[in-house]
Amino acid sequence: METYDYIVVGAGSAGAAVAHRLSADPRDRVLLLEAGAASHPWSFIPVGSARLIQNPAANWLYSSEPEANTNGRRIPVPRGKLLGGSSAINGMAFVRGQAQDFDTWAQMGNQGWSYEEVLPFFKRMERYEGGDDRFRGRDGPLRVTNPEPRDAIFQALIKAAAEVGIPHNPDYNGASQEGIVMSQATIARGRRMSTARCYLDPIRRRQNLHIKTGALTEALLLDGKRCIGVRYAIGDAVREAIAARAVIVSAGTINSPQLLELSGIGQPERLANLGIAVRHPLPGVGENLRDHYAPRTRWLVGKKGITYNDRGRGFGLVYQALRYALLRQGMLASVGAPMRAFIRSREGLDAPDLLLGWVPMLTVPGTKGPRIAKQSGFSCYAHPMRPESRGHVHITAADPRRPPAINFNFLSAPPDAELTIKAVRIARAIMTAPAMAPLRLTEVAPGPDRTTDDDIIDWVKRAAETTYHPVGTCKMGIDPMAVVDPQLRVHGIEGLRVADASIMPTLTSGNTNAPSIMIGEKAADMVLRQARA
Ligand SMILES: Cc1cc2nc3c(=O)[nH]c(=O)nc-3n(C[C@H](O)[C@H](O)[C@H](O)COP(=O)(O)OP(=O)(O)OC[C@H]3O[C@@H](n4cnc5c(N)ncnc54)[C@H](O)[C@@H]3O)c2cc1C
Repeated sequence: METYDYIVVGAGSAGAAVAHRLSADPRDRVLLLEAGAASHPWSFIPVGSARLIQNPAANWLYSSEPEANTNGRRIPVPRGKLLGGSSAINGMAFVRGQAQDFDTWAQMGNQGWSYEEVLPFFKRMERYEGGDDRFRGRDGPLRVTNPEPRDAIFQALIKAAAEVGIPHNPDYNGASQEGIVMSQATIARGRRMSTARCYLDPIRRRQNLHIKTGALTEALLLDGKRCIGVRYAIGDAVREAIAARAVIVSAGTINSPQLLELSGIGQPERLANLGIAVRHPLPGVGENLRDHYAPRTRWLVGKKGITYNDRGRGFGLVYQALRYALLRQGMLASVGAPMRAFIRSREGLDAPDLLLGWVPMLTVPGTKGPRIAKQSGFSCYAHPMRPESRGHVHITAADPRRPPAINFNFLSAPPDAELTIKAVRIARAIMTAPAMAPLRLTEVAPGPDRTTDDDIIDWVKRAAETTYHPVGTCKMGIDPMAVVDPQLRVHGIEGLRVADASIMPTLTSGNTNAPSIMIGEKAADMVLRQARA
């Protein structure tokens, strides 16, 4: 039997940060279990995300159940399955969210999670050169950079946004989020800065940290109401490991509730129906699933030479490959959506509620992932940042290898549809502003004929996908549906915490990598404080 002080399940955005901090004291023995591989060649290069989004070697490749509001489609739910987790396959945009997001969590009863209280962790985790010292961190493990808006397309967008009243904001992770700007990125010197790269690589020599890859945690070991360890499988070999102090589950929004349910923690009737002995009833496990349901408006560009479609084919691609090889710059070193805008849907709101993100190329589906299209164009996704629709994730069998069923219930809360329509209309307003005229744009999707609210929402149901931000299925809180308390301890079970995107009670305003890493940082801090008390 292997014995450790701490066992961390999942080496993703949050889990890698947890393991990094918990193993800082050489006296603490830490086991980090990761179901996926140690790395994948495409995970080092920013452009590689397109090669990982459908790649079973680095991705769990989940998909949702068909729903009426997805027009019966299954929506892809990619999740990283390798060291670094989703931070090793994601679009690399770095967005903290708004101060109000965390203040709301605190107001919901989560003491210690107000913006002022999480800000030190956001600062501690990053190494960023710009912005204001009050908000930005200078010497953390995670490299964050800020590309210049050199391309004509981005300069035109900044001007067009100004024409419809949207200001330029040089640091949306600073004092205020509102405005349009280039995306800050977890990219440095042309390399993806995953948590594997930034949190794990520098500590590989720590003797007290054991990282096991290809290690699927199948169940938590419970002794009454105390978690004492885990059972995990590497290939056909099944092993058990004991945690003297705590098990921290950081398996992500889909797999964390799956692991709790497989271990008998969850909704009693559901578990009993699957033949799983109920060890601890907890009705919130797997509930409160939220994500950004985001339609992509698509535009053809008449002006030549400015989109990645023009630059990324034939000789252009050879040039880009050389530029990347020699300088680590250019298209291949670019963040997924290089420009974004945080926008208020109406006057009088305290803070933005909509997000627009631009990708300067059109793609077509390919067998190994999206391929660059022959036509020149770009897309702009547009969605509400804090949707109210909630779904759930639940296991359908006692088998840890069986994917859980994911139901989003997109657009089930009426404000979500209304705000999505507004977001699409604002995207159109920017694209048709005078500053965009030289680009000679033609709307392809939703298409100029879709003018009424009904037309737009009908298209959203047929075409939207997510921006891959599922959260909330092991919600933090003090209400009966909460799974963890504000210290991230599973309600009613000793020695067990959850620390990843699943604990978010609500979606943060924007992308979810940065807040997930912050959760990992804060979780480790709380664990260590408790140990020292
Ligand atoms: C394609 C894509 C694009 C995205 N783009 C962006 C973006 O541009 N910016 C942004 O901020 N966010 C983005 N996100 C979202 C962001 O990356 C995630 O919200 C964040 O990484 C979640 O962190 P996590 O720690 O909760 O889970 P993850 O990082 O997914 O980590 C969970 C880890 O646990 C492992 N695991 C799961 N089950 C088990 C088990 N039973 N045993 C052992 N290990 C297990 C997994 O393999 C994985 O490594 C994107 C996500 C995807 C998938």
